[in-house]
Amino acid sequence: PEAITIQELANRMAERAVDVIKLLMKQGQMLKINDVIDADTAEIIAEEMGHRVKRVSEADVEMGLMGDEDAPDDMVSRAPVVTVMGHVDHGKTSLLDAIRKADVVTGEAGGITQHIGAYQVETPGGTVTFVDTPGHEAFTAMRARGAKVTDLVVLVVAADDGVMPQTVEAINHARAAEVPIIVAINKIDKPDADPQRVRTELLQHEIVVESMGGDTLEVEVSAAKRTNLDKLLDAILLQSEILELKANPDRPADGVVVEAQLDKGRGPVATVLIQRGTLNVGDIFVAGSAWGRVRALINDRGSNVDSAGPSVPVEVLGLHSTPEAGDQFVVVDAEQRAREITDYRERKRRELKGAPSSARASLEQMMSQ
Ligand code: GDP
Ligand code: MG
Repeated sequence: PEAITIQELANRMAERAVDVIKLLMKQGQMLKINDVIDADTAEIIAEEMGHRVKRVSEADVEMGLMGDEDAPDDMVSRAPVVTVMGHVDHGKTSLLDAIRKADVVTGEAGGITQHIGAYQVETPGGTVTFVDTPGHEAFTAMRARGAKVTDLVVLVVAADDGVMPQTVEAINHARAAEVPIIVAINKIDKPDADPQRVRTELLQHEIVVESMGGDTLEVEVSAAKRTNLDKLLDAILLQSEILELKANPDRPADGVVVEAQLDKGRGPVATVLIQRGTLNVGDIFVAGSAWGRVRALINDRGSNVDSAGPSVPVEVLGLHSTPEAGDQFVVVDAEQRAREITDYRERKRRELKGAPSSARASLEQMMSQ
């Protein structure tokens, strides 16, 4: 399906179309300027002409949002983005709540927080971002589009129940997304807790935890008794060090919408997880088929902020309509550009409507809500 006309290929390389045609001729293909060649042929031609080829999705090309790469020198460490998954009732929500309360800053402030679908926890060892959106539509939707919201999955397994069907599904999803797993063996306070059984059962799914000689980090916790939450956070930070998570904060922001709704008083509000760059008040942006100019940014503690950098979740005010969880968010340089992109996406969305989203329900069920 991916194809390009000779004229367009020449334009993108800033070469003459006639030279492209000559090269193709040498390879035995007699083509004219408006003829279409496939992506593989285009790549060969481009490389022959001394160009570096980077394939991007059709949508990105049409929107002009080529995935411009950042220079290694501009990359700065960023907080890991973590999603908690596991079987229903194994304690995902309890664990997220307990961790949030363990945060030193909110803890001191008396635990007053607001729910914005993602939040950050400051620990002595560093900051961790948790995605905590009901049903985790963002994770599901982004995964369906091949994008990555999360750097790490914390797999919660109740020590009194062991590996269950949704545990296995969670393992499979994390694998498919190529996201490392940290196992949190929860409910160790229960009299019938058997953490060793959990370890053994995980073996059957090719998860070998550290204490059994493998390289998957595991922590025994109790969300109810708040046991070992610090150890879990340490494990997350250790794993993220291994991943060398970095982003360039010094560029226009992009990211993903983790939650969005129409607020009676404030209008459309989106919680955005910034992935690259820094988002500022006043920036023009596109989120899915919605766009706007940032009127205000509100952090996970309910405070207004002027800007938000990589791995930071913020509420964004100033949208003209409500985007959807999982929508891509990107800052653009002009309103005109924003309109073009949203028009394009709106068209695409209409085309795609009705496409089945497989396994969506079960994925949402097993994630924190
Ligand atoms: P989720 O469906 O995975 O989000 O699970 P919840 O967080 O809603 O927890 C399910 C039930 O397990 C609730 O009744 C919790 O109070 C209980 N629970 C969660 N964590 C623990 C724990 O560490 N110890 C004990 N004893 N109960 C827990
Ligand atoms: Mg829950």
